[in-house]
Parts: sequence; structure tokens; C-alpha cells
Amino acid sequence: MIASDRHALTPWTAEFTDPRLEADYRRYVLPRTAGQLQTSLLVIALLFTLLGMADYLLLGASPTFFLLLALRVLVAIACLLTWRALRRRPARVFRFLPLNPVLWLGCLVIILIVPLRADSIGTHASATAVAVMALYLFVPNRLPWMIAASLLLSLGFLSAMLLWAAVPAGVILIQAVVLLFANTVGLITARRLARLQREQYASLLDERASSERLRHEIGDHLHLEERLRHMAGTDELTGLDNRRRFFERADQELRRALRHGSPLSFCMVDIDHFKAINDQHGHSVGDLVLTRVAATLRGDLREVDFIGRFGGEEFVIALPGADPAAAREVAERLRSRISELPHPDPGVPHRMSVTIGIARLAPGETTLDPVLKRADQALYRGKAGGRNTVVLADEQEGVGMAAANG
Ligand code: GH3
Ligand code: MG
Ligand code: MG
Repeated sequence: MIASDRHALTPWTAEFTDPRLEADYRRYVLPRTAGQLQTSLLVIALLFTLLGMADYLLLGASPTFFLLLALRVLVAIACLLTWRALRRRPARVFRFLPLNPVLWLGCLVIILIVPLRADSIGTHASATAVAVMALYLFVPNRLPWMIAASLLLSLGFLSAMLLWAAVPAGVILIQAVVLLFANTVGLITARRLARLQREQYASLLDERASSERLRHEIGDHLHLEERLRHMAGTDELTGLDNRRRFFERADQELRRALRHGSPLSFCMVDIDHFKAINDQHGHSVGDLVLTRVAATLRGDLREVDFIGRFGGEEFVIALPGADPAAAREVAERLRSRISELPHPDPGVPHRMSVTIGIARLAPGETTLDPVLKRADQALYRGKAGGRNTVVLADEQEGVGMAAANG
């Protein structure tokens, strides 16, 4: 992945140029890096102590051996103290202190081994090259500090060789080349690792951002879909279900009623002399009346009941579980509520009214059309009979069915 501008890295130290991003990255890798550094410190402490045995074999129980042993133990103790400090506060892993002075102490002891154990300079030289590599690749540290410790070890070791080791100049030159090689390979690899880890982190951030965007888009999409679905089934003026939605719900209720053999009644509601309101006060006042009547009807229904705008000033109400007697009670209450609504023109004493026709799903009926038609016919009879009234589709049938049901 090519890091975007926001994720740019410094050319030499391979860290994020954006300090906030670098801080976030360090927080992200902190637990793992602290764990790695703790392991490295334990290994260094163990190695420094164990190699004391080699000193013993080479030097015997001489004062030089004990001096060297004291130095080794000093490094091991410093490593263990740093290990403990990191355990307490892992965030110290990216700080200069306490790690780097400990590393320098270790480097100094390695350098001092040259005069103290001059006979084994050959093996000691190879071990030093390995130590340089370890400073780059085994001990997590910031790149500039890695370079500082490795150069200290390399240049100090070469100087010690020049001063104290009785070896030909050619051997020192070879060691210089080996150490240069170890530094170059170590530096390039450490830098490549630092870069790779940060690029990986940057692509993780990109991925997170794009999945977050996607989540948002899906959320917006679902919201829009929900709104569209709502709008598709809603009457714009009154906010009631439109004909389509009403029939969907009524179909469900019909199936439920057939399954359970429970009653299902419908009311057809039509505003009386609505045309006159439009004619006398204008269409917008007519709209206002429609809205008020719709709100009054809806506000006075049980939760299981539902209402739709059937046509111009006509509404249809489904009353699941209601037999004609119960439906009539509901319809009477609605009729009375509407008749209490004030006329849109405050100066007009005339009250608004509705006429309601009721019909109940008859035994054997499996569609909505016949029952709605009977309710409409009842409504028509109510209009003919003088309006502002509630009419049952067929009183005889209604009573008969109520009895059969009861
Ligand atoms: P009736 O008592 O017999 O029901 O008389 P009516 O005047 O209410 O009946 P009619 O069917 O003759 O008139 C209905 C009127 O409703 C006609 C139409 O212009 C009006 N109308 C239909 N839809 C709307 C609407 O959305 N807004 C308004 N303001 N008027 C509407
Ligand atoms: Mg009307
Ligand atoms: Mg009408």
C-alpha cells in the first residue's frame, strides 16, 4: 500500500510525520511492543550471566574473572530493573529512559571484555557483530537510539581492538568491515520493519474509515427506504394510512379473523355536506376540516383498530374483534366527537357531522369487497335518512350473528 499524505512517514526514522497519528500508532502497538522488550531484557540478562561460565573456563578464578563477573551481574541487574519498570508502566517502552542507558552499559561491558579477555578476541568479535544485529532487530527501540547504541558498540569495540588486542591490522580491518555490514543490514531491516508496521497500521485505519462510511451509507439508505415505504402507504394530507396500506392491513386482519373465527367489523365514515364547506370557505379550509376530522377519528380508536382515508372525505375503519353491537358503540362515540368539533368559521353556529355505515364480516366470506360494500350501502342509507347518524348494514343479520357468536 502507498501511504496517503495523511499517513506520510519521515524518510530516516520511518515514523508518522503527523505526531497525533504516531501517538495513536504507539498506543496501538504498545502492549505487544512492551511484551517484546521485556522478553529481550530477560534474554540479555540471562545471556550476560551465562557467558560468565565461559569467562571462568578462560580465566579461572582470577581477579579479572571476578571483575568481569561483577560487570556482567551489573548489566543483568540493570536489565531486570528495566524489566520491572516496564511492567509497571509499559508506556516507557517508547522513551529514551530507562532502556537506552542500560543498553549503553551492556555495550561498554562488551567493549571492556576486549582487554580483560584478550586471548579470545576471535570469538568475541563474532559475538559483537551478533550483538549489533540484536540491537537493531531484537530490542524494540526508536531508530535513532538503535543507531546510537550500535555505533557506540561498533566504534568502541574497534578502538578497544586497536588499543589492547594483539592482532594484525588486517584482522581489525576485517572486523571493521563485518561491523559495518552488520550495522547496514541491521539499519535497513529495522527501518523496513518500522515502515511496514506503520503502513499496515495506516491501511487498517483506511479500512476502518471505509467500513464506517459504508455503515453510514447503509444506515442512510435504510432510513430513506423506511421513509419511502412509509410515504407510499400514507395519505399526505391527513397522515392516515392510504387506501393501499389500509387494504394490506385489512387483508391480514381478514385472514386472522378467518383463522380464529373472531368477528371483524368495518365502519365507512363520510363527512356530511363537505362540499358546502369547500364552496363557502375555500379548499384550504376544507383541507383543515379533513385533517381535524381524521385526527379526531384516529385519536379515539383502540390500539388494534386502524383507519384509512378511503377517498375524498370518506374514511374506513377496521375494528378487529368487534361484533356489530361493539362497532356501533365505537361509531356512535366517533360520531358524537365529530359533532362537537367547532365549525372552521367561528361565526357559523352549524356543527360538523359525519354519517357512519357499519358492516360485519359474514360467515363464509373470504374477501373484503362484500363487507365494505354493505358498509357503504348502510352509509348511503344514513345519508338518505338525514345524515349525522350511525347505520348497521343489516340489523337482522347483525343481531343474528351476534347471537350466533355469543
Ligand atoms: P354528503 O353529505 O352527501 O356526503 O355531501 P358532501 O358534500 O360531503 O358529498 P360530496 O361527495 O358531494 O362532496 C365531497 C367533496 O369533497 C367534493 C370534493 O371536492 C371534496 N374533496 C374531495 N377530496 C378533497 C380534499 O382533499 N380536500 C378538499 N378540501 N376537498 C376535497
Ligand atoms: Mg360527504
Ligand atoms: Mg363522499
